[in-house]
Amino acid sequence: MIITPQGAQNSAYGLLRHFMKHTAVIVAGFLVGSLALTVAQQLPPGQIRPRPAEGREPEFPAPNIREYKPRSTLVVPEHKVPRAKFPVVDIHGHPPRLTGPEVVNTVGDSMSPLNLQVMVNANATPSADIASSLAAIAASRYKDRMVMFTSLDLRNVGPGSGQKIAAQLEADVKAGALGVGEIMKSFGLTIKKADGTRLKLDDPELDPVWEKAAALNIPVFLHVADPSEFFKPLDYNNERWLELALYRDRRYQDRERFPDFETLMAERDHLFEKHPRTTWILAHLGWHAQDLARLGRMFDKYPTLHSEVGAVLYDIGRQPRMAREFFTKYQDRILFGKDSYQPDEYPYYWRVFETNDEYFDYYRDYHAFWKLYGAGFPDAVLKKLYYQNALRLIPGIPRAGFPAN
Ligand SMILES: [Zn+2]
Repeated sequence: MIITPQGAQNSAYGLLRHFMKHTAVIVAGFLVGSLALTVAQQLPPGQIRPRPAEGREPEFPAPNIREYKPRSTLVVPEHKVPRAKFPVVDIHGHPPRLTGPEVVNTVGDSMSPLNLQVMVNANATPSADIASSLAAIAASRYKDRMVMFTSLDLRNVGPGSGQKIAAQLEADVKAGALGVGEIMKSFGLTIKKADGTRLKLDDPELDPVWEKAAALNIPVFLHVADPSEFFKPLDYNNERWLELALYRDRRYQDRERFPDFETLMAERDHLFEKHPRTTWILAHLGWHAQDLARLGRMFDKYPTLHSEVGAVLYDIGRQPRMAREFFTKYQDRILFGKDSYQPDEYPYYWRVFETNDEYFDYYRDYHAFWKLYGAGFPDAVLKKLYYQNALRLIPGIPRAGFPAN
C-alpha cells in the first residue's frame, strides 16, 4: 500500500473538491480519505504527518530491539563518579544472607570505595535470624557499617494475628532491629488470609502492627505492587515490553489472579491515612517515579510518608529538570536506596544525582531503552538524600563516619 504525502495531507480538501465532480471520483476520494485516516492512526508518536519515506521498506532486514544499539556520536563532557560526594546510607540493601562475619566483610570491602557508609539489611530477615545476623555484623571488620531490619510473618492472617505480629515486632526491636522491612510486594498482590481471601494492604486486622511500629518509633519499609506497566497489556505500546517478555513472573495482567494497579494504590493510600503516626518508607518512589507530581501529592497529604530511589534510576535520569525540582522541594522525604546489591551499579546513581552529564547509558536495557541525564542536585539536597534523612528516621544507625551536619 502506497499513500503519497500529498494524498494524505490534502485528503479532506480533495474529498470536498471531488464531491463537486462525479460519483467515481467521490468513491476514490472516500478511499483516499479512509486510507489517510488509517495511516494517521498508525503514525509514530510525535510524527505529525506521513514522511516521504512512508510506504518504503528497508532494503535490509530490520534489526529487532535487542540488536539495534547505535553508538552515540554526541560529544559532550563526561564525569564518571565512582565514589559518592558524601557518605551514604543505603536504606534498601540486599546483601547475601549473613551466615557469618565473612559475609559482612566481603560486602563491607565493596562498600568503602563507593563511600557507602552504612547498609540497612532490608532482606526481610525472619525474627529467628535477627540475633545471629547482628552477631555476624558485630564480629566483622564492619560492625558500624550494617544494621538490621526485621520482617513480619503475614501469612494466614486471621482474628488475633495483628496482636501476635505486633508482639513479635516489639521483641525483634528489643533484640536490635532498627526497623521493619522490606515488606515485599507479595503483601497486597498474592498473600492470602487464613480464610483464603487476598490479604488487603489496609486490612484492619493488621492495625495493631502499624500502631506498634509508631509506638516503637521505627520506620516501616514497604514495597507495594510493581511498575504500572506490568499490569497493562503486553503490546508494542508497553514501555516495559522487553522486561515483561523476559520475565513471566512480572506479568500481572490476569485479573483472576492479581488485583489491578490502582486497587493496590487505593489500599496503600488508605493504609497511610489510617496510620498517620507511623513512619512509612515507601520503596521505589512508590512506582510513581514517572509521575512525580502524584508522589508529591502523597507527600503533601501524608506528613510521615517517605520514599526511596531503589531501582527507579531510569525514570529519574530521563527527567533531570523535573527531578531536580522535585528532589529539592521534597528534600526531607526521600532517602537513598539501591535494591539489588551490585556494587558496580551504584556509580550510575551518583552520576545522575551529582553531575549535569548528558545522554549516557543505563546498565539494564530491559528497564530503559533510553539514555540518562545528570540532574545536578545541590549539596544540601544530596546530603539529605544520602544520609541525613536516614539518620533522622533511624536514630540507631551508628554515627561514626558521618559529618556532624
Ligand atoms: Zn528490595
